[in-house]
Amino acid sequence: MGTRHDLVIIGGGPAGYAAALSAASSGLGVCIVEKGRIGGVCLHRGCIPTKQLLETASILQKLKRAPEFGVVPAGGGDPSVDFGAAMARKVSTIESLHKGVVSLLNKHGVELVDGIGRLAAGGVEVLVDNRVEQVLEAGSILLATGSRPKSIPGFETDGERLITSNEALELSEIPGQIAIIGAGAIGVEFASLFAGLGSKVSLIEAMPSILPGADPEISTYLNRMLKRSGVSIYTAVSGLATEPSGAGSLVTFDDSRGEALRIEVDRVLVATGRKPSGDELASGGSGLGVDARGYVEVDPRTLATNLDDVYAAGDVIDTPALAHVAFAEGARLAGLLTGESPQPIDYAKVPWCIYSHPEVAFAGMTEDSAREAFGDDLIVARHRFGGLGRALILGDPEGMVKVLSVRGGPIVGVHIVGAWASELLSPGYLATNLGLSPEAIAPLMQPHPSLSEAFGEAVRSLAGIPLHG
Ligand SMILES: Cc1cc2nc3c(=O)[nH]c(=O)nc-3n(C[C@H](O)[C@H](O)[C@H](O)COP(=O)(O)OP(=O)(O)OC[C@H]3O[C@@H](n4cnc5c(N)ncnc54)[C@H](O)[C@@H]3O)c2cc1C
Repeated sequence: MGTRHDLVIIGGGPAGYAAALSAASSGLGVCIVEKGRIGGVCLHRGCIPTKQLLETASILQKLKRAPEFGVVPAGGGDPSVDFGAAMARKVSTIESLHKGVVSLLNKHGVELVDGIGRLAAGGVEVLVDNRVEQVLEAGSILLATGSRPKSIPGFETDGERLITSNEALELSEIPGQIAIIGAGAIGVEFASLFAGLGSKVSLIEAMPSILPGADPEISTYLNRMLKRSGVSIYTAVSGLATEPSGAGSLVTFDDSRGEALRIEVDRVLVATGRKPSGDELASGGSGLGVDARGYVEVDPRTLATNLDDVYAAGDVIDTPALAHVAFAEGARLAGLLTGESPQPIDYAKVPWCIYSHPEVAFAGMTEDSAREAFGDDLIVARHRFGGLGRALILGDPEGMVKVLSVRGGPIVGVHIVGAWASELLSPGYLATNLGLSPEAIAPLMQPHPSLSEAFGEAVRSLAGIPLHG
């Protein structure tokens, strides 16, 4: 056996590094084994690069509308994208954040070990070039190995014609035509990204609606807005298939009315979900409990696996696959190990944000689930962005906030579609999780002019004291 640590973490993404920072702050000796780069999918192939490129698309779209705001480009030409510069900015943002996280981990004395971590008796083996380089003895072990893109039969990705989100973030040029298979959060974000950059986008989904987990009214609203921005959306499709065609691909399917469609594209982006990496951890006879989908099985209250002193957090367990959930689970595990009593996570009320154009954000129950739970005691209020001064100033009057509450009781769900929805969700998330009633919030002010007035107005309506509603 080699060096002993109180906590050895396999995987340095959000779950792993949050656990490391929190545990090290509480005095534990911590080591992270990482086979790629600290920051994980979130920093290198997920949250950060997508949002950086979406920002380029958003600026391009805004510039196209500049004359509406009285801004006229000096040469009179149309704005265009320097994709190389956009990609360079993406890299620079990632590198800056990567440096920051590594320096924080160093400051807290967390040891960073390069290599593939594998469960071994009493600790973790570190493999480099297929050889066991060292064995780390561990008081506790956290498995935080995340997930990888999942494909569907017939759509096995080759990194060229058929790509995953990984390759979509490394393209050397903007595709002229792209088909995106899967209209969950990742598919919808890429649809906005490529449409905003000028690609012709076809978004193809087997379920009856895009963003299947969102409130149907909100996903219908987004559907309409995406179509308006030029995205062709096909839901409830069947018989989906693809074959090479010229330098690109032919995608064929039956649409919701049974009509056979054929679409020629340069690239097919397969965005049909992610596969947790529990299967890799379980190989090699560790005895780790992993379910049929590849999730490491844990007790959600303690994050403990079936093996003594072995825990798991983040995308590798069956909880919402979100970076902030991974952060929260990592930090929570550190609290459990150091004998604190960290608050459990209410997974039904985590904040969800989809950075499409316009954005979608929500926390808590959808209207359907709340109606099922509370029947006629459910009250719903909406406030549209169209009447907000700030929305008109920004030139983004499309959007709304929808708040669900139990009559005489707490707010149980908040749903937003529109500009900066991700930034506007915070009070709704707090209200939903703290069980605040509309009556408690309604007398409080919202700054004017601001988009947050929409939340304030909806809550005032629920409390029976509407202002502009
Ligand atoms: C395109 C895209 C966009 C996204 N956007 C958002 C967003 O906007 N907001 C949001 O909340 N979430 C977003 N997500 C999801 C988010 O990235 C994940 O939920 C988050 O990264 C999960 O963190 P994690 O620590 O569990 O795993 P990961 O981030 O996957 O990190 C796991 C780490 O473990 C390492 N590893 C794996 N196996 C081993 C091993 N055996 N030994 C050593 N190291 C190992 C990997 O190299 C990786 O660094 C997005 C995901 C994608 C793909």
